[in-house]
Amino acid sequence: MPLERLALSRSTLDRAAARRTDPELVETLLADPQTRVALFSEGEAPVTADPALQLWTAQAIEALGIRKTVASSFFLGMDAEGRGYLALTVTERPEVPEGVRWASLREVGSVLDDTGAGIFTTSVALIAWHTFHTHCANCGTATDVVQAGWVRQCPNCGREHYPRTDPAVIMAIVGPDDRVLLGRGATWPEHRYSTLAGFVEPGESLEDAVRREVVEESGVLVGEVHYRGSQPWPFPSSLMLGFRGEALTSEIRVDEEEIADARWWSREELQADLKSGALILPPAVSIARRLIEDWFGARIPDDAAGW
Ligand SMILES: [Zn+2]
Repeated sequence: MPLERLALSRSTLDRAAARRTDPELVETLLADPQTRVALFSEGEAPVTADPALQLWTAQAIEALGIRKTVASSFFLGMDAEGRGYLALTVTERPEVPEGVRWASLREVGSVLDDTGAGIFTTSVALIAWHTFHTHCANCGTATDVVQAGWVRQCPNCGREHYPRTDPAVIMAIVGPDDRVLLGRGATWPEHRYSTLAGFVEPGESLEDAVRREVVEESGVLVGEVHYRGSQPWPFPSSLMLGFRGEALTSEIRVDEEEIADARWWSREELQADLKSGALILPPAVSIARRLIEDWFGARIPDDAAGW
């Protein structure tokens, strides 16, 4: 069974890409009382106490008086009831209703409903792409935003640039004795361990990327590799492709530049170390956590002390 309902892979909107070519689309939707709008500022969005992503009607956006502070607008898609959804980025945070606070996707991505999580993930990814890709990669000219935020076009050479997604592999490596291999990044807090991961290089298959990253970081040789699922990780532009890999060797030699430590855990050792605080796993929003749970055979509680 593949991993399902990953925190950031729960988008529900129809992206309705054919509508993006309408240059009036954003203005049309802002005049439609059915439209729902999400606000973003510095990677954060207003979230209610539930928590749910705060969505405004177009009239409510007008009432916030933020028009002059809107830096960019994106068409996110349509829901099953025919409502259009927009994301607006603002340069100044307006006052939000009582009980609503600005929160990051890392913080609330795993607890929002499917629609909210999908809107938040897509918006953060698009916003990051625009932030880091302001100029033409072909001729260096500043590009224009077209297609309701989904394309940047160069006014000099005419080239169109599309939002990029960088494939990264992330893998639970399991030894012949059924222990799992986890590593600690050189810059991570003490006790924090996770599955190994790394970017796919040009000319490389996903399976080879898994094997290369694991041997580079831990010295462990990997044989068979099985795909488990994927989720976007828009910090700023990764798509995490999750695998389980079968280790052929167990001796660990860490690459100390990237990894401070790597070790094998049995299920009993993992549970004991989580309870004692000697091991801290990545949060529920990450595919790393789900890959570890997939090997463990059950969900692992956030507060493991009383487990
Ligand atoms: Zn150009």
